[in-house]
Amino acid sequence: MREPRIKRTKTVCTYCGVGCSFEIWTKGRKILKVEPQVEAPVNGISTCVKGKWGWDFINSEERLTKPLIRKGDKFVEATWDEALDLITGRLSELKEKHGPDSIGYIASSKCTNEENYLFQKFARAVMDTNNVDNCSRYCQSPATAGLMRTVGIGGDAGTIHDIASADLVLVIGANPAESHPVLATRIKRAHKLFGQKLIVSDLRMNELAQRADVYLHPEPATDLIWLNAVSKYIIDQGWEDKDFIKERVHGFEEYVKSLEKYTLEFAAEKTGISKEELVKVATMITEAKSVCGLWAMGVTQHLGGTETSTAISNLLLVTGNYGKPGTGAYPLRGHNNVQGACDFGTMPAWFPGYEAVQDAKVRARYEEAWGVTLPKEPGLNNHQMVEAIHDGKLKALYLFGEDMAIVDSNSNHVHDAFEKLEFFVVQDIFFTKTAQYADVVLPAAPSLEKEGTFTNTERRIQRFYQVFEPLGDCKPDWQIIQEVANRLGANWNYSHPGEIMAEAARLAPVFAGVSYERLEGWNSQLWPVAPDGEGTPLLYTEKFAFPDGKARLFPVDWTPPFEAGEEYDLHLNNGRLLEHFHEGNMTYKSKGITHKVPHPWLEVSPELAEERGIKDGALVRLTSPFGKVEVRVLVTDHVKGKELYLTMNTSEDIAAVNRLTSSYHDKITHTPNFKEMGVKMEVL
Ligand code: SF4
Repeated sequence: MREPRIKRTKTVCTYCGVGCSFEIWTKGRKILKVEPQVEAPVNGISTCVKGKWGWDFINSEERLTKPLIRKGDKFVEATWDEALDLITGRLSELKEKHGPDSIGYIASSKCTNEENYLFQKFARAVMDTNNVDNCSRYCQSPATAGLMRTVGIGGDAGTIHDIASADLVLVIGANPAESHPVLATRIKRAHKLFGQKLIVSDLRMNELAQRADVYLHPEPATDLIWLNAVSKYIIDQGWEDKDFIKERVHGFEEYVKSLEKYTLEFAAEKTGISKEELVKVATMITEAKSVCGLWAMGVTQHLGGTETSTAISNLLLVTGNYGKPGTGAYPLRGHNNVQGACDFGTMPAWFPGYEAVQDAKVRARYEEAWGVTLPKEPGLNNHQMVEAIHDGKLKALYLFGEDMAIVDSNSNHVHDAFEKLEFFVVQDIFFTKTAQYADVVLPAAPSLEKEGTFTNTERRIQRFYQVFEPLGDCKPDWQIIQEVANRLGANWNYSHPGEIMAEAARLAPVFAGVSYERLEGWNSQLWPVAPDGEGTPLLYTEKFAFPDGKARLFPVDWTPPFEAGEEYDLHLNNGRLLEHFHEGNMTYKSKGITHKVPHPWLEVSPELAEERGIKDGALVRLTSPFGKVEVRVLVTDHVKGKELYLTMNTSEDIAAVNRLTSSYHDKITHTPNFKEMGVKMEVL
């Protein structure tokens, strides 16, 4: 047999929202190396450990390669015809018996724009429901809501280049050095070499916090208080950007009134941040020529996640930090395509491009194009779907590319819901924890085995190309969705993802000029994209995204965090590791990563370790009102006092953080309060 040739294929990383691209060198099914290229628009010649070493999972023996059908307590291999017949038969039956809204559809922030577009089309046009959502519900929905209220678009205001060129970067509740490593490198370089100022607010002394000019360590869930206090102090001193506010912003007077109680004294008492530090932060922000505000789950995963996100945007508006290079709001997207999954319509209230399902004119456009009558009201989000299963209203779920049994909060409650489903379809690359509850499991192809586009945190759309043939009987998710839709009466004939993108571009004005031809090779486009293909790297240069072009200052008040009760005397925080991605389904199956970091751990402060007689490596049990985990301890001064930090990426069910978290959530978006958990700890 002839020796396979060495092949070089451009791909886009699937491990975070930075959107690094690089060439993968392969021979047969063997990956020889990952080589970044200077043409890559985001990362140039950089990658992090996940982008470089996180691909062995592609040949894992644990990959799903055949459809599986549940028979009693076991799964048996099936043909595609058998599996698809079962799916379409059961979905039709349940729709007929209980109505279209008795079925929910959960999309994937790891899969492509085209797959997400097709899935929402399937839910809406074929199955007649808006019950479709994606995992942004667990992370950045509050940031999107906060930005839509104030500046009109839920995405990042500018590019990673803007962050790197800002005079001052404010990082709140985020750990970019581990969660967005290449982006963090740009900040580290600007700070070290070019005089960029850095303010970090976080419970944990992460790497950027260690390098910051000012590190704020607020009490848990109090960021809104210090943000409002800094805004108030700036306004009290007359330091606000008066011209910017007069010309470009509504609601200043009402906003000023809403800040009355947020004095420095009040903020210092509630947050534990001294008045001097707050004045220093206000002064630095005022003196900076350009400020970028970055945040992530440390802000959003709280009862008041939307309100705190709004407070960040308010502070940027008051100081005129929108619409100029090096300014703006940057919610850091965690998954590689959480931005794209939302952009392309897998949300219960939005068509692709954030046009409301309730808008009759927009609906008419889609109805004409798709040749159907569409549901008028927003559907259920992920959180509501779980509750609707418990209430007996939702009978079936179709989910692809998410391990919801691990990543949703209060996982025992979620597992109980899955047990109650009458029918459950899971489409994934591995037999996940979620798949264990399914009736049919379909084998999907990961990014290296298909083509498509991802959209990174900057709103940048990039193409990636097929490296390998799909393993076994695996198929790209878009092909599977098309086959299910056609068996249910659709007549779709997409032969390539480029045709799906062309349809989305025809229908959603923000993608008007997006095309596979324009995205060829290392090219990329940042939406909104005009019909001539011109993208928009920096938003709001002339107007904000409201009909009158003006931004809105939106008054917000503090929501105290969830209290678990006195016996739960420790505060549990959680987050990512540099080496692993999300629930770990891919990285724990990549030997290049697991030999370095094989297990999750719990960070315990030196003072707490001494008080409780705990040593490095001790096995402890954490208990919350919702469940228990067992995990080994790392004693470190990255955390203080009674604060604990559990790595969320886990290969071990017994250490999965969401066994501890609750179903309480942000009131606007229903994003769970993953970061507000009281626990007690015992040494085993
Ligand atoms: Fe991948 Fe993010 Fe690392 Fe870039 S920074 S290589 S996108 S995980």
